[in-house]
Amino acid sequence: MKELLYKSTRGEAQPAAAAAAIIQGLASDGGLFVPEVFLPAAGGLADLAGLTYQELALRVMQPFLPDFTGAELRECILKAYDSKFAAPQIAPLVSVDCGHFLELYHGPTLAFKDMALAILPHLLLKAAGKLDIDSEIVILTATSGDTGKAALEGFAGVDGTRVIVFYPENGVSAVQKRQMVTQRGGNTHVIAVRGNFDDCQRGVKAVFGDAGIRASAACRKMLFSSANSINIGRLIPQVVYYFSAYLQLMVRGAVRPGDEVDFAVPTGNFGNILAAWYAKKMGLPVRKLLCAANENKVLADFLARGVYDKNRPFFVTRSPSMDILVSSNLERLLYEAVGEDGLFTGKLMKQLDNAGRYEVGAEVLAAFGSFFGGWASEAETLQAIREVFASSAYLMDPHTAVAWAVWQKYRQQTGDNTPAIIVSTASPYKFPGAVLQAVSGRREEAEESSLLSSLSRLTGTPIPPSIEILDSLPVLHRTVCHQEEIRAQVVEILGL
Ligand SMILES: *Cc1c(COP(=O)(O)O)cnc(C)c1O
Repeated sequence: MKELLYKSTRGEAQPAAAAAAIIQGLASDGGLFVPEVFLPAAGGLADLAGLTYQELALRVMQPFLPDFTGAELRECILKAYDSKFAAPQIAPLVSVDCGHFLELYHGPTLAFKDMALAILPHLLLKAAGKLDIDSEIVILTATSGDTGKAALEGFAGVDGTRVIVFYPENGVSAVQKRQMVTQRGGNTHVIAVRGNFDDCQRGVKAVFGDAGIRASAACRKMLFSSANSINIGRLIPQVVYYFSAYLQLMVRGAVRPGDEVDFAVPTGNFGNILAAWYAKKMGLPVRKLLCAANENKVLADFLARGVYDKNRPFFVTRSPSMDILVSSNLERLLYEAVGEDGLFTGKLMKQLDNAGRYEVGAEVLAAFGSFFGGWASEAETLQAIREVFASSAYLMDPHTAVAWAVWQKYRQQTGDNTPAIIVSTASPYKFPGAVLQAVSGRREEAEESSLLSSLSRLTGTPIPPSIEILDSLPVLHRTVCHQEEIRAQVVEILGL
């Protein structure tokens, strides 16, 4: 059998095996790696239904990673999805009157980024081993919140890796900051930057592009890598929970094997929903994928009219992880939609870089037929949290609420009553201010810790232990620097 390779969406780079694609992250022509073919998971739905999450992960991920042996992949999976997840099912499906919620937030940082970042370090190390790279892997990341902490947790204590996170000093929430500065693990480094997220991002990108620093790192047997969501090592593990959700629904008798379901996905960088599309391409019976945006609704507009235009006001919303105007992973779907024409995809991406805009015709847009683009305003998001809590005593975070609200609009517009699964991406306790305001009906100005206890009291739900202990953990990272000092910080930390 021909081994599955990954080709670039820009069409100029040589196809790479999975291990090389994971190590490189981005293809050499600037494109993203996509699998050449989609193979079905081993076993029919009825066979898969009895498996544990870890066994299922092996069946779903193996076709994407043919250069990993079953034993290697199993080892990665068992190290990732263990007791650091508070739910034994890893991604439990919770059914209430108001809908079926796929909870992806039971990992150490209480957001869905853990689903991929818990396993990425292990995939990276195995991939490096296959390519005879014996360097230490140094992850450099600029973060606006959820990714940084999930990367720190994923890589902390993993031998052969080191992780350095830069975050904007005043640009993350109090809980997010506290989560990062209390991070344990001798191989973790957290630095606040006096500036915004873009300043952090620019500083980190400059280090990646600095041949001098890369060369001296190479001399000391260190290899820079990023934990960015464009890495296929982050995408592939996300396909698993779509299968898991379907199988959980099947086991409880809500669908029969083969019946179609819809997924409503709160979307920012388009990684999570793309994984759902990949699950469909592997044979999971999916009808529609509801791509749910907040007021930064660039994707909803694109899916409606074929014009992707980031020249628009940027809104800071209560669902900050979706405050994104350039959804990087859309390039992978676009490449399929234009008939896998890499040069054309590259041209559109260049237009996006230069003019902030590109446009596709009706025949290209038709290839997105499985996607429905919708969005929810800030008021609709809080209203959704209030409504679902009132009718089902189920508490959603603002990101999940955007998806639920879009699902309601979709049903009203189309009359489609296919069973739907709402993808739930964060614990409501990560955003206590917004959730408390939604449920209580008034805006509370208080310290984060008192918001947490008010929310718990009002809703009768427990504060997750990993958030409750944050106040008592010692601060271990105090370094603050300017954007121009990011390079010097990396040099000092690594002893280059
Ligand atoms: C990152 C994130 C999203 C968006 O996911 P994408 O894969 O970027 O579309 C949604 N919700 C939460 C809580 C997130 O952290």
